[in-house]
Amino acid sequence: MNISVRNLTALGLLGAVLVGCGREAVETPPAPSAKEPAARTSPSPRASAAAAGPKPARVPAAPPTMAPGPGGLTPVYTHRAKGAGKGAEKVVALTFDADMTADQGPRAAQGERFDNPQLIETLRRLKVDATVFMTGRWAEEYPDQAKSIGRDPRFEIANHSYSHYAFASPCYGLPTVAKPDMADDVQRAFDAFRDAGAVNVVPYFRFPGGCYDDAALHALAPAGVTAVQWDVVSGDAFAQDADAVAEQVLDGVKPGSLVVMHCTRSAAPVTEQAIRRIVPELRARGYRFVKVSELMGG
Ligand SMILES: [Zn+2]
Repeated sequence: MNISVRNLTALGLLGAVLVGCGREAVETPPAPSAKEPAARTSPSPRASAAAAGPKPARVPAAPPTMAPGPGGLTPVYTHRAKGAGKGAEKVVALTFDADMTADQGPRAAQGERFDNPQLIETLRRLKVDATVFMTGRWAEEYPDQAKSIGRDPRFEIANHSYSHYAFASPCYGLPTVAKPDMADDVQRAFDAFRDAGAVNVVPYFRFPGGCYDDAALHALAPAGVTAVQWDVVSGDAFAQDADAVAEQVLDGVKPGSLVVMHCTRSAAPVTEQAIRRIVPELRARGYRFVKVSELMGG
């Protein structure tokens, strides 16, 4: 956490910049949580239903989740806490947010590309396991890619909302989902993944912009998801310098880290290039790439 914050400061940034309705939005690293509930291994019934279907070989039948907080609050996971310290297993989870905001359809129709198939192919070629936090709107725009990612055992699809609207306000200019609609917005994304034919779907949720509060955690309880933040901000959104992104990640990663990047070409154009440097360097340091489900279950 401190490392990523320091790096952001060094770059004069407050956080990773994300797209939101044509405006730039900023995702800040999560505040350190006082305590994280222990991981458990049974997903919620709702999440199980969302992930129902043929089970690919390498996806656990029951992805680990975390126990709800007091009063049933949606639990929040940031990274493998025991990853710090000497002798910790050198694993790192790369996560890629596939962003598309509900009202960006006209921009896609004009040719703006919110997908990044070259990035996915590079992850496959380099044999990197990864978790894609996909919006439902993205899955609707790119159903073939959603299906391909969601049937490749190397990947798992997690939920980044349907609309990519904010779940707490203010959130960098994003429109806000009404509290009573939050669980439905998340379920609508799971439905979109299913309709696209994805099967490797895990009951994890990333808040658009990383913005949340207790009211959002309460409103999301019926969705049965574990919220997933991160401890390393890549700074890939709107970056033009792949080496700067790579260095920020390489400086920030510790054993058990969870890195946030993007699978949205128009908003993160150098991510694939940065990955080609990040992956061999982390491997040279002894790191192994895992999906969030493995990080959380370890
Ligand atoms: Zn996002």
